[in-house]
Amino acid sequence: MKRIAVMTSGGDSPGMNAAIRAVVRYGIKSGLEVYGIRRGYAGLLDEDIEPMTFASVGGIMEKGGTILRSSRCPEFVRKETRAEAAKILKKHGIEGLVVIGGEGSLHGAMFLEEEQKIPVVGIPGTIDNDIAMTDMSIGVDTCLNTVVDAIQKLKDTASSHERAFIVEVMGRSSGYIATVSGLVTGAEAIIIPEVPVNYEELANKLLEERERGKINCIVVVAEGAASAYTVARHLEYRIGYETRITILGHIQRGGSPTAFDRLLASRMGVAAVEALMRGESSVMTALQGGKITTVKLDEVLKEKKRLDMELVKLAGILS
Ligand code: ADP
Repeated sequence: MKRIAVMTSGGDSPGMNAAIRAVVRYGIKSGLEVYGIRRGYAGLLDEDIEPMTFASVGGIMEKGGTILRSSRCPEFVRKETRAEAAKILKKHGIEGLVVIGGEGSLHGAMFLEEEQKIPVVGIPGTIDNDIAMTDMSIGVDTCLNTVVDAIQKLKDTASSHERAFIVEVMGRSSGYIATVSGLVTGAEAIIIPEVPVNYEELANKLLEERERGKINCIVVVAEGAASAYTVARHLEYRIGYETRITILGHIQRGGSPTAFDRLLASRMGVAAVEALMRGESSVMTALQGGKITTVKLDEVLKEKKRLDMELVKLAGILS
């Protein structure tokens, strides 16, 4: 193998740059030529491809987002489009591809290998922590820290005005961000897609807490469970005091990656290049019990990562 390429695809997450840096630098140190594909699969189809150097990835580790940029490319679900992409990779002499992205991007990578025999290695990058077989994905830790910082600030103002704050966080199908951020900020309630919500019980709990003298109240809701407006509508008339809504939105995707995410991304970037050089393909780098390993993409993608219900229990016990 002489030449490989790296791309970021789908929703971006903090730490992707550290992963790009590791792939490029470790690849070059291992005697490979490393190319960067800009704007994910859409950029690949446009042949938006450039050689990367040791210097071109200097000073990027601390930056949020992705220097290669990202995109959504709906036509990549078509087999003919993937055949076109494989032709372009071959034309540029690219013999191995590292795809950094979420579930959708990893699906694209898996099909590219299956149908076109392009060796691919995926690196899980998503803030949702919804990718199976890896304890963490790149970006999750930074996102959690952003959310915790925001909730902490809301708690200050909630205490001053004796209000309830409803904070909507990301997580379309996973309540991980809501559960962990709620747990570590001592939120009064956490609403997630995995657990049905009973507004009557929730309102009673908040009223009891108020009677006990609690002057602030934070309810964290995962976007996939309900919108903050819906939660407010259900709660306000039951609790009889004002609520305020904060939707954290895309600030959760940004920011300088934490030390944890930089380290995870660096380790996974190196592991991805090593896997390609060993001749592995259609695998994803994974963190399992503190160690970096590789797992088959088809196994990763056949199951949804389940939320650890121990965390939900813990949040309930401690709030
Ligand atoms: P993420 O990678 O963050 O989950 P998306 O789900 O939007 O983000 O996927 C990113 C891109 O990956 C899509 O725009 C598309 O190009 C490709 N992709 C997603 N799902 C598939 C699929 N089932 N088959 C092939 N390509 C896919």
